[in-house]
Amino acid sequence: MSLKIEIDNGSGFCFGVTTAIQKAEEELAKGNTLYCLGDIVHNGMECERLRQLGLITIDHEQMASLHNVKVLLRAHGEPPATYELARKNNIEIIDATCPVVLQLQKRIRKQYEASPSGEGASIVIFGKKGHAEVLGLVGQTQSEAIVIENFDEVSRLDFTRDIYLYSQTTKSLDEFHRIIEYIQQHISPTATFRSFDTICRNVANRMPNISSFATKHDLVLFVCGRKSSNGRVLYNECLRVNANTHMIEGPEEIDPAWLEGIETVGICGATSTPKWLMEQCRDALSNE
Ligand code: SF4
Repeated sequence: MSLKIEIDNGSGFCFGVTTAIQKAEEELAKGNTLYCLGDIVHNGMECERLRQLGLITIDHEQMASLHNVKVLLRAHGEPPATYELARKNNIEIIDATCPVVLQLQKRIRKQYEASPSGEGASIVIFGKKGHAEVLGLVGQTQSEAIVIENFDEVSRLDFTRDIYLYSQTTKSLDEFHRIIEYIQQHISPTATFRSFDTICRNVANRMPNISSFATKHDLVLFVCGRKSSNGRVLYNECLRVNANTHMIEGPEEIDPAWLEGIETVGICGATSTPKWLMEQCRDALSNE
């Protein structure tokens, strides 16, 4: 009997990252030198593929020493200081900031302009300190926004001040809701609290989606770099619902013994797994 193989449609790069890569590819196809500020995606193989096409990854320090070049800003977005630097150094920006992130930056900036922290309001961002997207968000508030990384940090907020709560797009919805609840219970009656659910469903919905995908197959191959933390979470979810799940970094790790007595294989991966890598795994299976 022939093996049925399905690649999970919902796995792989989100549309923000896919669009950024397309923009880079279009620009490189014109034969132009293109710099990218930070890794375009958290996947070594994809970064290497783009490097071979000519993409040069730089950090902020290197950008400061460049003039009259083109620099691509990746999906995570950048704070205003990066745009100012580009203006100063006559750098042309290819802005691949994800529209969802751009929208969030604008909302935070508007809120900050309407109620700067000097007037007794706190803009709070639930996110990872130092993460590129969070730096871009904090940058909208002259660095005055308070970042809380997890539920345990919420208690240190000043509940006598107005609180406007936002979230990094990739954080957990459950934890965000716990934080909202805690603030609602502790906010002073004289202060205002407003929360804005800015979590991107592209990532938040992956957990339930991947879990129903994994239950459908006899064998699940979860394709992902072993260092990806998001990958580990999604892999564990697949394993929870289907014990016959294996994490692999590429087609070379497929063990033919796994296929014995198997009729259907589901191939899925993390948000940082390139589609082409899942396709390579499918092709390797087809050749078994
Ligand atoms: S906001 Fe959503 S679509 Fe955009 S880069 Fe983040 S995860 Fe991807």
